Amino acid sequence: MKIFSPIISLIYPFVCVCCEKETDNKTPLCIFCYNDINFIYSKEITKTLFYGRLDLNFAGSLFYFEEKKVSQKIIHALKYESNKKIGVYFGKKIGLMIKNHIEKPEIDFLVPIPIHHKRKYKRGYNQSECLSKGISEICKIQINTSFLIKNKNNKSQSKKTGLNRWKNLTQNFSVNKNITPKHILLVDDVITTGATIEDAAKTILSVFPNIQISIVSLAITKSK
Ligand SMILES: [Zn+2]
Repeated sequence: MKIFSPIISLIYPFVCVCCEKETDNKTPLCIFCYNDINFIYSKEITKTLFYGRLDLNFAGSLFYFEEKKVSQKIIHALKYESNKKIGVYFGKKIGLMIKNHIEKPEIDFLVPIPIHHKRKYKRGYNQSECLSKGISEICKIQINTSFLIKNKNNKSQSKKTGLNRWKNLTQNFSVNKNITPKHILLVDDVITTGATIEDAAKTILSVFPNIQISIVSLAITKSK
């Protein structure tokens, strides 16, 4: 029913994605839910997670992911409710965070963590690309979706053992060798263990060992 949504939004007011109360303007959240978000505004938390794993230029996450709270609703809306707008909206907030922490980013391009094309087809979009659009608008950095590609889903992965499995785990992504950037910014929705982003970054570093990598995410889970 996507084609009717512009008409519906003229008739029905904007509602908060979290509590479904009417919002007074075009923001996806009401002021009460927005104030409930556990914003981080610090670059050290995300960077700390990757200490000893990745040598990062800049790393930052906008807020903490907390179960049964506003942050979980935001992520759910972005990933499962076709709410691309909320991705761009919070992408702009990430963009402002980057601007506040890096004086002159000098980043060649944004790399949204890719999802497999079958999943992208089913969902209709890649949520990290939505975030990247918002970042791009604020920071004036272009998005590159052909630099890093997700390889085929391998469902039999867990059945494999030893060396075979390890090999599979490090072949989740492919890198376009024809593009040679100096500094890239990886964009992800939620960082939990950091395994996916580490895998992506290490794949890139295996092709371009001297590249500088920065990471941003919408959310990060609290370390226990
Ligand atoms: Zn609300």
